[in-house]
Amino acid sequence: MDLDRRDLLLAAASTALLSSGIAHAAPDRPLGYAIVGLGMYGLGVIIPQFANCAHSRLAAVVSGDPAKARRVAAEHGLPESAIYSYETFDRIRDNPDVDIVYVCLPNSMHAEYVIRAARAGKHVMCEKPMAVSAAECVRMIAACKAANRKLMIGYRCHFEPFNLEAMRLARSGAAGRIRYVRSEHGFIQGDPSKWRLRRALSGGGSLMDMGIYALQAARYMTGEEPVAVQALESTDRTDPRFHEVEDQIDWQLLFPSGAVAGCKSMYSANQNHIIAVGDKGRIELEPATRYDGNHLWTGRDGREHETTSPPPGPGRTQFAGQLDHLAECIASGREPIVSGEEGLRDLRIIEAIYRSAREGRRIEL
Ligand code: NAD
Repeated sequence: MDLDRRDLLLAAASTALLSSGIAHAAPDRPLGYAIVGLGMYGLGVIIPQFANCAHSRLAAVVSGDPAKARRVAAEHGLPESAIYSYETFDRIRDNPDVDIVYVCLPNSMHAEYVIRAARAGKHVMCEKPMAVSAAECVRMIAACKAANRKLMIGYRCHFEPFNLEAMRLARSGAAGRIRYVRSEHGFIQGDPSKWRLRRALSGGGSLMDMGIYALQAARYMTGEEPVAVQALESTDRTDPRFHEVEDQIDWQLLFPSGAVAGCKSMYSANQNHIIAVGDKGRIELEPATRYDGNHLWTGRDGREHETTSPPPGPGRTQFAGQLDHLAECIASGREPIVSGEEGLRDLRIIEAIYRSAREGRRIEL
């Protein structure tokens, strides 16, 4: 297909296609979320997004800082009874205003709070990476299944209009047969005392935090599951930031079609990029996975056409789309498009990437 004409030819079809994949029955009232962890993401990014939601609202906060919790609750008109500490968290089972618990804690705490939320009878949204090991992911999925509750992972890019358009283009054959994907994700970590640099809390370095975007991109741009991985790590262990976790890690994924993905993450340089190259053209996002301001280009062998207005996504923002998707899935009984199983797939591959880097050999998946 001619890439220069693809907007006109496919825009109408894409809206229908995307909405058929994502739109669900709406709940008869907005479902209540409890946000666990009032840090940069939970407080700074997610809580303000309820203003953009149609089917979701803030119903409770869970924090280790009582003054902060009281301030946030007051700002959002929540009663005292909607404030929990980590110690009183399990009492959330008695709060009918809370339908969903959203875990925005350091990675190593995800498993405990997802399992406690499910046991309290609540549906769960869990931030990425789902956990610090595949074994934890298996336990989290089992706990949600046993409680008959939904589990979704905070993979917001599946609700971001430019990423959705890039996925659709890749699937439509607009760039021909995808031969390779490249994706690099990183940012400069400054403070060595941050939990992201403490293995016990993060489970790993740039791969767990940013590399997971590159891994996701490799999977959603090819639409395939990798069969083998080969990785190489490069970290200056004398740098106080990197005593416990990796800085740069590069890895290649081999897919059943013969497509290859070359991915990279780092904590010592800023980069945010995805490109899928096929035998008829290319699809490129840069920045690719930011909160806003992402750009999408297509072309035969360069950035020939910029898509400035992709078909509208499933929400007013990627975050609102994500929050409302789980509410709609609960109302309709459908599985989230980014379920616990999706998070588990990534953790299995991440473990293989680390193992490949450690053992210096290709790992079959
Ligand atoms: P943060 O450090 O800003 O916030 C973490 C919160 O957890 C804080 O409120 C902190 O008080 C609390 N906490 C409880 N116990 C803690 C402990 N032992 N050590 C440190 N903090 C503790 O981190 P963040 O950036 O908000 O990240 C939280 C989660 O959200 C992570 O899993 C991260 O990967 C994810 N995240 C996702 C995105 C995204 O775009 N999807 C963006 C940023 C962060």
